[in-house]
Amino acid sequence: MGLDETLAKRGFLFRSSEIYGGVSGFYDYGHLGTLMKRKFENLWRDYFLGLGENFYEIETTDIMPENVFVASGHIENFVDSLTGCKKCKSDFRADHLVEDKTNETAEHLDNKQLTEKIKELGITCPNCGGELGEVDFLNLMFPLKIGSKDKGALRPETAQGCYVAFKRMFSATREKLPLGLAIIGKAFRNEISPRQGTYRVREFTQSELQIFFDSDKINECENFDEVKDYKLRLKFTDKKDIEEISCGELLDKLPKMYLYYLAKVQQFYLDVLCIPSEKFRLKELNEKEKAFYNKYHFDVEVFSEKFNGFKEMGGVHYRTDHDLSGHEKISGENLHVTIEGKKFIPHVLELSFGVDRNVYSLLEISYKDSVLNLNPKVSPFTLGIFPLVKKDGLGEKGFELYKNLKKDFDCFFDNSGSVGKRYARADEAGIPYGITLDYDTMNDETVTIRDRDSTEQVRVKIEDLNEIIGKLVSKELKFKEIGELVETRKKEDGYRTN
Ligand code: ATP
Repeated sequence: MGLDETLAKRGFLFRSSEIYGGVSGFYDYGHLGTLMKRKFENLWRDYFLGLGENFYEIETTDIMPENVFVASGHIENFVDSLTGCKKCKSDFRADHLVEDKTNETAEHLDNKQLTEKIKELGITCPNCGGELGEVDFLNLMFPLKIGSKDKGALRPETAQGCYVAFKRMFSATREKLPLGLAIIGKAFRNEISPRQGTYRVREFTQSELQIFFDSDKINECENFDEVKDYKLRLKFTDKKDIEEISCGELLDKLPKMYLYYLAKVQQFYLDVLCIPSEKFRLKELNEKEKAFYNKYHFDVEVFSEKFNGFKEMGGVHYRTDHDLSGHEKISGENLHVTIEGKKFIPHVLELSFGVDRNVYSLLEISYKDSVLNLNPKVSPFTLGIFPLVKKDGLGEKGFELYKNLKKDFDCFFDNSGSVGKRYARADEAGIPYGITLDYDTMNDETVTIRDRDSTEQVRVKIEDLNEIIGKLVSKELKFKEIGELVETRKKEDGYRTN
């Protein structure tokens, strides 16, 4: 079974309103998907808010007045290039069609160039082979009315919430810089022809951290020594391959503060999310690709087998004073700060991520032969509790154990069907450890722990379970270090063995 089918069947994610046929670009999360998404968000929150003592999470509204987006430039510039099929009327993103054909980025081409490229390359409608029309812009905003006449829109990025709240938050947090404001919340973009699962959807969750700072201090970073010798995996615009270069060696190219956060982002992916390093890179954007106000822009990318290439998961953007200056101009509010007698508009370094894209990428990387090999920190359930049979008191004892373990871990209780089938279902749901109660349990208060990835089992005392599982999840302990492997029940039907 393919990944998307498994994800829908097991309750990770599926098309929204699917009983009405669904609408492209909208997905719902089931019980497993929601648990996993929350785990990702919590890891992100703990890690990124932990990077600064003056970093906080805030929550701002999804609907904002139109002027916010006049100031941000979204009303005028937040557009993608659209081409429509003259025959079946389907819409497509023109640059993506060209990229699919050439395997080269087409983001920098204007509409006239894209129209010519489509003709030159003989690109036709991917759905019906019909002729494609002139390329034109489509604004990606979802406009709406607030009350009967005021114009507003759904925010296309959470960032604007931090910019409009900056003045209030700077004062509430006692006027110190750097100030970090994070939002984990919804963003809405009327994407042209969204495909590719939750990589590209019209309603999605972002986790973004805006760091406001004094631009004169961009080369002051008190923790830089922590990352000085740390090697970044970089793909520069003028180079073909990924290079591993330490932050210290890059000081002539990029400022200290920017390098520090590139390193912290990479460490989040490699050490917290446990993405294999060869599947990760930080990709520099060239002048044509990046927004005009971004002085430095590296995309955070993870390799996708499914799409056979690196996909953007996030970005590290040095947005200068573009945002606060724009809001000062349109709102008429003074957004300058005064620190030690110096008056200035703070600059912004933005660490921006798409939660759904990251969750999908973790699922994709982990899926092989109907097993979701998820890192225990993000797997929806940490433990499955499986009494071998329901009878002879094993069912009741299993349920008691489940209730106890549930206080410390996300647990799933399953006592229906053969134990082999239960293991297989748990593997598909990405549950890293299975606790099985058998007849020995009734005599000596022991259970077995089954490791999803090796399918091996060890026998442990119930009283030691919490400590062992805690250490397995935090990687203080390897499965093989727990104790003697026990003979597994290979005869069970549907039982997966390696
Ligand atoms: P793309 O080039 O893929 O359209 P972007 O460069 O416009 O993305 P940003 O505006 O930098 O994206 O948004 C930050 C992050 O939000 C992205 O890195 C991505 O993870 C996520 N994101 C953006 N658009 C979408 C979308 N339509 N669906 C899911 N996630 C998205």
